[in-house]
Amino acid sequence: TNNDSIASDERSRSELLYDRAQHVMPGGCSRNTVLRKPHPFYVDFGSGCYVTDLDGNRRIDFANNMASLIHGHANEAIVAAVSAQLRRGTAFTLATEQEVLYAEEMVDRSDSFEKIRFVNSGTEAVMSCLKAARAYTGRPKIAKVEGAYHGLYDFAEVSQTSNPGNWGDAAQPASVPVAHGTPQSTLNDVVVIPFNDAARSIEILEKHVADLACILLDLVPHRIGLVPAQKEYVQALRRWTKKNNVLLVCDEVITFRCGFGGAQEHLDVSPDLTAMGKMIGGGFPVGAIAGSSAVMEVMNPLKSPVLFPHSGTFSANPVTMTAGRVAMQLFDRSAVDALNALGSTARQQLTEAISVAGVAACVTGSGSMFRILMKPEAPANYRSAYASAAENQILQSFLDYVTANGILLIGTGAGMLSTAMGQKEIDQLCETALAGFRHLKA
Ligand code: PLP
Repeated sequence: TNNDSIASDERSRSELLYDRAQHVMPGGCSRNTVLRKPHPFYVDFGSGCYVTDLDGNRRIDFANNMASLIHGHANEAIVAAVSAQLRRGTAFTLATEQEVLYAEEMVDRSDSFEKIRFVNSGTEAVMSCLKAARAYTGRPKIAKVEGAYHGLYDFAEVSQTSNPGNWGDAAQPASVPVAHGTPQSTLNDVVVIPFNDAARSIEILEKHVADLACILLDLVPHRIGLVPAQKEYVQALRRWTKKNNVLLVCDEVITFRCGFGGAQEHLDVSPDLTAMGKMIGGGFPVGAIAGSSAVMEVMNPLKSPVLFPHSGTFSANPVTMTAGRVAMQLFDRSAVDALNALGSTARQQLTEAISVAGVAACVTGSGSMFRILMKPEAPANYRSAYASAAENQILQSFLDYVTANGILLIGTGAGMLSTAMGQKEIDQLCETALAGFRHLKA
């Protein structure tokens, strides 16, 4: 089995590399998310829905680079298009046709996308949205849902803290910093609202309305247990923002995979701005900000003054533009529907496995996403999504089991499907998960 090579007397290649990595990178990694105990796995190669590590262990990849691969690894059409572009140059100080073609492709996916710009990551996309909202409204504050993850921008990362002692009153969640040294002035400009509670959220928002540029909202926040926002909640926020000339910014960095035009299509909401990233880049670093022409105009260099001077050296480079365009062309309405149906099957089968094994766990998610939580029922908000040390330990044993048996999940217990998968892979996932749940009870 996969376990054998890992458990042999000789130290694995991943173990040896991790020793070296610790000398040159803090924690031995460039992304805290790759770290797993006792050491990360180092990849040899990926192909379709499989990834093989340097010790020859092959696993079905439900992590898909943190939700950023929608067609799995080394998709042939993407590889062919990108290889052709590589030979023609990868980055220019000039504009390229690829950028225009991809922009046209993307604005056709949603009525809320009148104009678009590309950047290099989800963090940068969220940051650009918030700065555009401030530039457009002339107001400093942003509001966000307690605990939601939006990348590393100072303002966007406020309020995810693993220490419940810092949370403050549930009716008025505190602006808790993530990174030490975050200036108090930053915290003062972030208004934190509770998830899926429109009445309380609006009560809080009302107090800041004169200073508020926008509400930043992820429609299926991963840190809140991958539980979808309720339609009534989203629509109430949309009505309130319209009435008060505050912008609504949807962070669809992960959720864009849920619909042809993102999760906003299912929730019937039209935000002023949308931040995207991850899967729209076809496996290459990307971000995008799309929205109404009126708001996007703040970046227009032909205006004087330019309200939000917006640039980025590698933004819209032709490699990413090429990969992204092919990936999105392949992700047409029928591909989206098929993948969402597969997601629905996965959630159902995993739920069955939990009930057969009789463990206290549940499955959340939406579209092509699922998450296994070691809680008897889906959480309602960030506070109820909080995993105790005991729950974390149970999740870790489960993850260790499935990882040793050919299944790769995100470290939170989440999985993201790709079009390289079919029913066979879902069956394998669910069989292994069932054995993993039984293993927890053994
Ligand atoms: N927004 C959401 C919802 C995310 O999940 C992430 C990354 O996980 C980001 C923004 C940041 O994207 P990136 O890691 O590309 O900077």
